[in-house]
Amino acid sequence: MSNASHSETAEACARGEGTGPAHEPTPARDMALGGLAIRRLLPAPRRRLVGAWCFLDAFGPLSFETGKPMDVPPHPHVGLQTATWLLDGEVLHKDSLGCEETARPGTLNLMTSGRGIAHSEETPHAHSGRLEGVQLWVALPDSDRRAAPSFEHHPELPVVEAPGLRAIVILGSLGGRRSPGRAFSPIVGADLAVEPGATSTLPLETAFEHAVYPLRGAGCVGPAPLEPATLTYLGTGRSELELRAEAGGPLRLLLLGGAPFGETVLMWWNFVARTAEEIREAREDWQADRRFGEVKAYDGPRLDAPPFVARPAAR
Ligand code: MN
Repeated sequence: MSNASHSETAEACARGEGTGPAHEPTPARDMALGGLAIRRLLPAPRRRLVGAWCFLDAFGPLSFETGKPMDVPPHPHVGLQTATWLLDGEVLHKDSLGCEETARPGTLNLMTSGRGIAHSEETPHAHSGRLEGVQLWVALPDSDRRAAPSFEHHPELPVVEAPGLRAIVILGSLGGRRSPGRAFSPIVGADLAVEPGATSTLPLETAFEHAVYPLRGAGCVGPAPLEPATLTYLGTGRSELELRAEAGGPLRLLLLGGAPFGETVLMWWNFVARTAEEIREAREDWQADRRFGEVKAYDGPRLDAPPFVARPAAR
């Protein structure tokens, strides 16, 4: 997806530090991406990075009969990976490498931009009439961010099971199982389902920082009720997480975590960089049709970059 926020200046996302356990709920900000209403969870005003996770948008659930609720024309990315994870519906990805793949519930579309790629994301012609999911970005470490772009589609992902709990490992590793998606830093992304009324304990990597976002249903993390449309940052130093679903239905939540990233990144529009000069160059290359290639399979014009003003961002 494309960043719907139109700030003219870049946002500095300070490198993470191991702070110990925390409980910081941050409500979503409502935005629109074309005609699609989205909830922005990351970057948040107080919480810019969770491990290498640097961006989280949630959309849906919604039903439609005509039109395309998602239609994001070709746009560029640098310095990051994008992961599309759906609970319902379909999103068709097309990129400048010539890859074309439909994301569906339970499958992972993972794009590594490296030094530059362009892609589009849209509701395909053949669809279920429903859409619900999240779009995630992972910052690439400095050692890998200039690598060649690539795209992966993973129809099957490992599952971790515990009494009352089923976890799909989207990226990185959890409970000894590792996603086939290529990760560039120690990380975890998982879709957790807790049975109605169940209390379950999930083992965590103690050195990681973590955050949770409720996807469906209601329940608690530890003693605290999960607030809807809110990302709760949990800090580092937790060896396990107790999850409880209310008796009325299952709880489904997104777990994000990773080793504190250790690098301060600069985010603007669809770019994750380190300096304003890099962002200016990437923007100019996109506007001049250099570096990123063409999404030939997309029917329509590409996105224009918004204006960029290179000035130091407030910390
Ligand atoms: Mn995108």
